[in-house]
Amino acid sequence: MARVAIVGGGISGLAIGWELVSLGLPHEDLVVFEADAQAGGNMKTERTGSFVLETGPNGFLDNSPPTLDLVHRLGIEDRLLVSNESSAIRYLFCRGKLRKLPTGPGGMLFSGMLSLRGRLRVFMEPFVKKGGFKEESAFDFAARRIGKDAAATLVDAMVSGVFAGNARELELSAAFPKMAAMESEYGGLVRAMIGLAKKRKREAVGKVASSGEAGPAGPGGTLTSFKDGFDELSNELACRLGPSLKTGVRIMALEKRAPHGYRIIDERGETCFADAVILAGPALASSEIVDRLDPELSSVLGTIPTAAVTVVATAYKLKDVGRQPHGFGFLVPRGHGVRILGCLWTSSIWDGRAPDDHVLLRTMVGGAHDPAAIEIDDRGLMALVAEDLKKTMGLTAKPEEHWIFRHKKGIAQYTPGHTRRLERIEELLADHAGVFVSGSSYGGISVNHCIAQAPEIAGKVMRTIDSTANPAGDKPS
Ligand SMILES: Cc1cc2nc3c(=O)[nH]c(=O)nc-3n(C[C@H](O)[C@H](O)[C@H](O)COP(=O)(O)OP(=O)(O)OC[C@H]3O[C@@H](n4cnc5c(N)ncnc54)[C@H](O)[C@@H]3O)c2cc1C
Repeated sequence: MARVAIVGGGISGLAIGWELVSLGLPHEDLVVFEADAQAGGNMKTERTGSFVLETGPNGFLDNSPPTLDLVHRLGIEDRLLVSNESSAIRYLFCRGKLRKLPTGPGGMLFSGMLSLRGRLRVFMEPFVKKGGFKEESAFDFAARRIGKDAAATLVDAMVSGVFAGNARELELSAAFPKMAAMESEYGGLVRAMIGLAKKRKREAVGKVASSGEAGPAGPGGTLTSFKDGFDELSNELACRLGPSLKTGVRIMALEKRAPHGYRIIDERGETCFADAVILAGPALASSEIVDRLDPELSSVLGTIPTAAVTVVATAYKLKDVGRQPHGFGFLVPRGHGVRILGCLWTSSIWDGRAPDDHVLLRTMVGGAHDPAAIEIDDRGLMALVAEDLKKTMGLTAKPEEHWIFRHKKGIAQYTPGHTRRLERIEELLADHAGVFVSGSSYGGISVNHCIAQAPEIAGKVMRTIDSTANPAGDKPS
């Protein structure tokens, strides 16, 4: 009998497993079940010839500690790869062309991204009173503070870039809690930017200042990955878990077992027992697993949806394109005559992802606005990508090679009511001591967020199994 079972070997499950081992849980007391043949979940890299292709996440931001801390604790900091400086330059495709995102609020005044009226409305933001309501959407919040034009252009694109989501269907306080706090704590976005800049200046006395907050040009921090691809991280964790990791095992159900603990049943009908179980897969998958244990918990978990998204990587001969694009890439707000969500200029962002004489691009298609896109066949997808890259970048070259990665259960969507649902999940879990949920379906979708949850969950798990082993709270003799 394993004392702890983790269901899901994505970055969330792997990080929790590693934390548990670091806290002293012996390997034989831990099992991590992963349905796929390979661990990592969304975090997978394909290497073909001299191309390094991320099927899912592209990197993490170094201005938030969790991933970097983990990297240091694993001792693999020499493997880190920092994005090139030019990737600070980002574009939006709107009003018929690619437009550079301004690096400060002042630049917005001269940017053609918004109509004159829209730009002037953005500058009224400091005079907008606090308002809103509990489950306000990201779009409604932005429309209230910076106007509908900016909400439909800037915020729509940001939401596509982070969640592949629909700004009207994401709860601001769940999806973008920092932005919600900018209003609740500082009274508004501009006031918050000034306040935070002052705070950083104070904190920077005696040390190098960090760019911790998002500015108009994109998120703060530097996008960081690994020399041989992002899955160096998940592979390293998988390696450290050794025999505790069982791949190719899909868990179907969880039941209570008398007098304590849980019975975990896989798709072959095989059973394992554990005192603590962490459900670290997408909420929809966990919903099915807990159906027999607690139908209400199952139904609440089942209401956290995901948006399907497809990644299309295309490689061109440099001579066919003319030159490497300079910058990070671009996002496309809806309503500008282009179906793709955006395109990252991979060979410009990173060294070593493509041979020097090639241009490698990564185009995102689908998301919450366009669920039907996941069904487009390869031919249709390549035609769509070619048409939209021509419209946006003026790219007419034919790709020498292409790769398509479909994520049917791509990115969790924190729809209005998400915070309320999380509270209910916590209440219901209180009846099932030793059962935990973790992962991108709950408190943040970035890799940083997933890794950040691990130490807290691991601590709770260790306390649970200590109390099971020693119910009277006696000190071991
Ligand atoms: C296309 C794309 C691009 C992204 N880009 C970025 C980015 O650049 N930066 C960033 O920070 N984040 C990005 N993200 C988000 C980030 O990748 C994810 O939020 C994160 O990887 C989720 O990790 P996870 O472990 O919580 O879930 P997952 O990666 O979904 O892993 C869950 C695992 O559970 C397994 N599982 C499910 N059900 C069962 C079962 N019944 N039994 C056993 N195993 C099961 C699955 O097979 C899977 O391996 C991106 C996501 C996508 C899809």
